[in-house]
Amino acid sequence: MSAPIRTELEPLIFEMTRRGLPQEHLPGCDVPEKPLDALLPKSALAATAPAIPEVGELSVVRHFTRLSQLNFSVDTNFYPLGSCTMKYNPKTCDLLSILPDFRWTHPYQDDRSVQGTLAALEELEAALAEVSGMDAVSLQPAAGAQGELTALLVIKAYHEARGQKQRTKVLIPDSAHGTNPASCTIAGDETIQLVSNRQGLVDLADLDKKLDDTVACLMITNPNTLGIFEKQIGQIAGRLHDAGTLLYMDGANLNALLGQVRPGDFGVDVMHFNLHKTFAVPHGGGGPGAGPIGVKKHLEPFLPVPRIEKTSEGALRLTENRPQSIGRVRSFYGSTGALLRAYVYIRQLGTTGLKQVSENAVLNANYLLARLKGAYELGFDGRCLHEFVLTAAKQKKEGVSALDIAKRLLEMGFYAPTIYFPLIVSEAVMVEPTETESRRTLDRFAEAMLAIAQEVKTTPERARQAPTNLPVRRLDEVGAARTPILRWKREGA
Ligand SMILES: *Cc1c(COP(=O)(O)O)cnc(C)c1O
Repeated sequence: MSAPIRTELEPLIFEMTRRGLPQEHLPGCDVPEKPLDALLPKSALAATAPAIPEVGELSVVRHFTRLSQLNFSVDTNFYPLGSCTMKYNPKTCDLLSILPDFRWTHPYQDDRSVQGTLAALEELEAALAEVSGMDAVSLQPAAGAQGELTALLVIKAYHEARGQKQRTKVLIPDSAHGTNPASCTIAGDETIQLVSNRQGLVDLADLDKKLDDTVACLMITNPNTLGIFEKQIGQIAGRLHDAGTLLYMDGANLNALLGQVRPGDFGVDVMHFNLHKTFAVPHGGGGPGAGPIGVKKHLEPFLPVPRIEKTSEGALRLTENRPQSIGRVRSFYGSTGALLRAYVYIRQLGTTGLKQVSENAVLNANYLLARLKGAYELGFDGRCLHEFVLTAAKQKKEGVSALDIAKRLLEMGFYAPTIYFPLIVSEAVMVEPTETESRRTLDRFAEAMLAIAQEVKTTPERARQAPTNLPVRRLDEVGAARTPILRWKREGA
């Protein structure tokens, strides 16, 4: 069980200020002091000093430690957030990626002085290409969604180079992650939705109907967001290629496929990876992620610059000399700290270890599915891969929604599964246990879910009122996203 969570918030540090506390832990100034207006123009100076909190060191330590304890995290709690692969990240990946020679590198350093970092990144590119069956990888995109955008720009450049400028439609199944149509819009393309059939797979007849010479690509997630492998993927790839278009795979769910099958072998032309899902880069909290893309040979010339290349003397360097490149998509060559973690993870696990990741991820998901399917209805029948989707439709009839169940789970010490996604399942509850959880944790979670299902019949208000033992009750999540308050303001100010 996790540490008891405080139900009352302590005052914020800004509210604890007592003027005139001795500033004893600040050393005196050891350079000649100059008046500020000798350094900066008067117009740039603030008229009044900022209200910096004046509190003792211990208060500061308690403030930040307490804030850290208010978080749910993978390191403290089970986090079965479907589609997000919130798995435990081995600490060795952190430790090795912050070795001084990596950590103290400056991005403007000369290539000759960062040969070790470039070698690690080049090997990571090669490892990702090997895992996925692609020919070339760019590590540059900073997140899955940016990988999607980068890939769509690469696809656009490819069609334009072939005189096919009119290919601006992107086919996207209705089970797709919301970032897919969003990336498509930002890339200046038009989203055309494909319907799913009764097994939760792409409807081939619908695909045929929509396939013409204005289609830039099909964006498919495999396994899809229902946790089901698109069995017809080979046929789908064949139809797309016959029609002169491309197959893009959203590879965020690669945790299910590692070491089993390779997207490049079933016809994918371009894909993205989520290193912060599949490859042990911490995920969430707004930290840096990485969403590299992999492409087949015919798309390689269009990859973003810089590219890592070997000089004739065998040294590595970053080059911008790629005339057909779509250009840069972010600063420098990517989130190096995140990339190094993924590199260490892959090297540590090796081929057999990576294979075991997907085997255990799929086993854990099917184990939970088997334990829960009597109490909850299934979004789609059959076994799953790394995740599965339940529906709380039955519970909803008793007045308890997927949201209520999620909130009740928080009270019981679990992070909630993803809810109301994918959109094609009503009252969806999407569970992804990942491979890093023990049987004991899975059992505890299953027992909590079963207890809630039982409670719905006897004391439904319990879930409807949850959470009651956490620092905050139910929040206005839409308001928080649309009109976020990003700085502390004194009450009444
Ligand atoms: C997480 C996810 C994404 C987006 O990745 P980000 O790194 O959050 O931008 C895209 N597609 C699927 C299926 C995902 O699960």
